Amino acid sequence: MFINIAFLAVSLTARAELLFQRGSVMSTYYMIKIEDNRYSYLFDDIARELKRLEGKFSDYSEDSELSYLNNYGGESFLKVSDEMFSVVRDAINIARESGGCFDPTVGPLMELWGFKESKLFLPKEREVQEVLSCLGWENIDISVNNAIRFKNNKVSIDLGGIAKGYAIDSVVDLLRSGGVKNAIVEIGGDIYCLGTGLDGDGWRIGVQDPKKPESVIARIDIKDFAVATSGNYERFLDYKGERFSHIIDPRSGFPVKGDVLSVTVVASRAIDADGWATALVVMGFDKGRKSVESQDNIEAIFISQGEEGYDIWISSGLIDKVEVL
Ligand code: ADP
Ligand code: MG
Repeated sequence: MFINIAFLAVSLTARAELLFQRGSVMSTYYMIKIEDNRYSYLFDDIARELKRLEGKFSDYSEDSELSYLNNYGGESFLKVSDEMFSVVRDAINIARESGGCFDPTVGPLMELWGFKESKLFLPKEREVQEVLSCLGWENIDISVNNAIRFKNNKVSIDLGGIAKGYAIDSVVDLLRSGGVKNAIVEIGGDIYCLGTGLDGDGWRIGVQDPKKPESVIARIDIKDFAVATSGNYERFLDYKGERFSHIIDPRSGFPVKGDVLSVTVVASRAIDADGWATALVVMGFDKGRKSVESQDNIEAIFISQGEEGYDIWISSGLIDKVEVL
């Protein structure tokens, strides 16, 4: 379980007790807060929904739909569920728009480096090149509706960069259709703020200090938006004091080593916030910033190490919603 980055979701006023549910899913924790105890019966439905999604998108379990696709998708077009098709299509769109910095085919590289077993293998440059040469999101063929095929059988799909976001969106749908007006849905630090909070002013979300996870360095005031953070420091393996991030730069096949300590993305869907946070860490500060400003659907905060303290960049659409502490 990795809980180095978590957001502190605090209602602006604490007039009433929020109902909580915590649990674990997708190798991390989840936490749901609902403002009204008439809806507590939904907690069981949420737990079931999260288990269902884990069973579908996990690449650890051999029984999941994703494992089935990864095992046989190299042979011919495989019919997949609407849900799988839509998540893979979203992943491919982010891959295309980020110039391949987000790439759902990085799985074999995650394995080569040892991230799947949480043990760094430090592969040789030649081994990295060999694996890298067969990968790439362009090898996922979605040209037939609701079916997926891999153009070579070395390719597989790893949804670790967006599955949490998709799961958050699914829980939010479930809450909305159950009639819930105000809630917080959090999975492993990524979050959706439903409604306007108890006093109607929105929710205040804390952005963690990348080097001191217990302190908050900025606050974002939002309602009906998702927030996700990815970072270099957040999940990594250590080797002789050197940190290897679990985000791979698909251009080199090596763990990302950029200038960015963390990127926090705000978007109306959690899947976009999650996917783009990963993409922007790989893109780095210069390219990433331009990409954010050219898109209407995402806003971002980049934190990098300056000469004295942090450099914090906030995109133009977010500037009046963020308070730097
Ligand atoms: P976290 O789980 O810490 O929030 P991310 O959302 O950034 O992290 O996702 C990291 C996961 O995404 C990795 O564990 C891996 O499964 C996958 N991944 C790693 N590098 C990339 C990449 N360049 N593009 C897409 N997915 C990636
Ligand atoms: Mg992500």
